Amino acid sequence: MKFYITTPIYYVNDIPHIGHAYTTVAADVISRYKRLCGYQVFFLTGTDEHGQKVDKAAKERGKTPREHADSMIDNFKNLWKKLNISNDAFIRTTDERHIKIVREILQKLFDEEKIKSRSYSGWYCVPDERFWTEKEIMGGNCPDCGRPVEHIEEENYFFEMSKYQQQLIKYIEENPNYILPETRKNEVLGFLEKPLGDLCISRPKERLSWGIPLPFDENYVTYVWLDALVNYYSATKYLAPNGEEWWPADQHLLGKDILTTHSVYWSTMLMALDMPLPKKIYAHGWWTVNGEKMSKSRGNFVDPHEFINKYGVDAVRYFLMREVPFGLDGDFSAIALRRRINSDLANDLGNLLSRTLNIIKKYREGKIPPEIDSKDNEMKSEIKGLLSGPTSARAFDSLMGNLQFHYALSFIWNIIGKMNYYAQNSAPWREKDKDILSNTLYTLAEGLRIIAVYIYPFMPETGQEIWNQLGINEKIDENKFKEVIEWGGLKPDTNIKIGRQLFPRVEEKIEISDKGAMAESAGLSEEKQLISIEEFAKLDLRVGEIKHAERIEKSKKLIKLKVDIGTEERQVVAGIAESYIPEELIGKKIILVSNLKSAKLMGVESKGMILAAGTNERTVIATFEADVKPGAKVK
Ligand SMILES: [Zn+2]
Repeated sequence: MKFYITTPIYYVNDIPHIGHAYTTVAADVISRYKRLCGYQVFFLTGTDEHGQKVDKAAKERGKTPREHADSMIDNFKNLWKKLNISNDAFIRTTDERHIKIVREILQKLFDEEKIKSRSYSGWYCVPDERFWTEKEIMGGNCPDCGRPVEHIEEENYFFEMSKYQQQLIKYIEENPNYILPETRKNEVLGFLEKPLGDLCISRPKERLSWGIPLPFDENYVTYVWLDALVNYYSATKYLAPNGEEWWPADQHLLGKDILTTHSVYWSTMLMALDMPLPKKIYAHGWWTVNGEKMSKSRGNFVDPHEFINKYGVDAVRYFLMREVPFGLDGDFSAIALRRRINSDLANDLGNLLSRTLNIIKKYREGKIPPEIDSKDNEMKSEIKGLLSGPTSARAFDSLMGNLQFHYALSFIWNIIGKMNYYAQNSAPWREKDKDILSNTLYTLAEGLRIIAVYIYPFMPETGQEIWNQLGINEKIDENKFKEVIEWGGLKPDTNIKIGRQLFPRVEEKIEISDKGAMAESAGLSEEKQLISIEEFAKLDLRVGEIKHAERIEKSKKLIKLKVDIGTEERQVVAGIAESYIPEELIGKKIILVSNLKSAKLMGVESKGMILAAGTNERTVIATFEADVKPGAKVK
């Protein structure tokens, strides 16, 4: 089974931004998933290096275009490395082999009289390197970029694209999955309702020399788009593994701005060449930044390096795939990213792993307990059923096949939510029944082993790290998806290896524009009354060690604690049951307000209050960063 997927080749003059990263991460997610499913994958990306803009930029830097391109490609290669992109090849349109194939294709079309020379007059946009008709230009400006166009009259070569218009319409209609999403397909069909012109595929050398010379007329170079599109085919002839036949591609992934060139120019060229068309062209949406279009002039250019350095590669990959349905436009904001990190990654996934491992460490000497199917409960079978078995594999496969990454991830996070709920609410924590506790812990650990496989295509480092911490000495990608998600893969007695925290919480920094956050911090403003040191001294804050913890029956939020404060053991009720499992609290050193008037909560007496901070979704108790004795005064 083979699978060939491409990103566009990126224009070498650009510095890669979040949009480039988006397409490439998406292609990587699909590639990793397909490999895990046993496919032999050919994942191609690369750079587009010919054309006027490269020529101009090179001249400005006092370099040859080739030297300029050489110096720019590392911007892409380095970013792909940092983003863990697993591309199999990197094509450059200045590769000798690519150039040879472009020339062969042009010669063939010319010999078959599908390319013809004719005199042409029209309006030309220099930066876009393309002609527009009288009707298309808008007030003397390019309808695409808005810059002034020049009137040009010259002899040029044309690919007779118009001859394939009806054939293309028919093909798109008969193959409903050729162009996706559906809205984009309809846009292309709408575009094809108007008569399709022929495509000018040459540029006179006197105007532009940096391009592939036409094989049948050395006075011209090839239009940069035609040269670029051929990369998808040329790469199969000299960069693909095994020397097998890799054309047609299974999937071209691209941004919606270049859909016409792919669905119309490229498709009709392939028709003219009697070559099969790619199986699927998928155009995704654009990212705005804080609600605005990203551009250098606006100064809101999102440099992926900055975010990867700050939050880690997997957090960025996760955010891109989770935040917005693939195909629609989305908005990139640091606030949204941090929110995802704290809620989905730190709170849900990170917490599930750390609490599972810490309880195994505490109660099972760090060894995976056996699965004892004595009193199986509903939650357990639900988790098992959702994660493993052919139905789950099929459901996940269909989401991935349709590029519904956000659904695939919310499917997984729904299970993670159930597992956290199961951890917090299952009876064994209270009952201390050895068999049931073992069974619960096994379910959580084994569930995490399978979760790691599902998230691996999206977050390869995190998936592997979960396996490492569970004590599995294998690489996820050396397994087969269907087999490895079968329940029971985790061997009892495996020694766990608690390691780094998967996703430390990040500060959800307050920004001027974020009014909600401002309101929350209003307590810090000077308007609030200040207190004297004497008033503060009235508080008797003590170090306490939690000796015992149990949930309060019928309460969602409350946990009853026994806290050692040196002189005595206090009973305290704390509203932290949604954030902690009683067992993981034992042994923690906390800060107790020890001279607080006692109160009754759900009928249980509480003598004191422990300090904590956080949001509605997660409360975090204050602890000490080094060991202190119970009873010590906090000042
Ligand atoms: Zn233009």
